[in-house]
Amino acid sequence: MAETDPAKSGDEAPLGVPGTGENLCRACGGSGRIRAEACPDCKGTGKVITGIGGA
Ligand SMILES: [Zn+2]
Repeated sequence: MAETDPAKSGDEAPLGVPGTGENLCRACGGSGRIRAEACPDCKGTGKVITGIGGA
């Protein structure tokens, strides 16, 4: 399955980088929407790539 996910402004790293993973978008709380608009940070997906701390 080739997922071509364009970079989102809420991403801290590209998908697949070690030490990072998909997390709920903090801007919209994972809903993908802020009020009636698609969340700009996650582009409406509700998920962003962030570093996984504590390694
Ligand atoms: Zn979002």
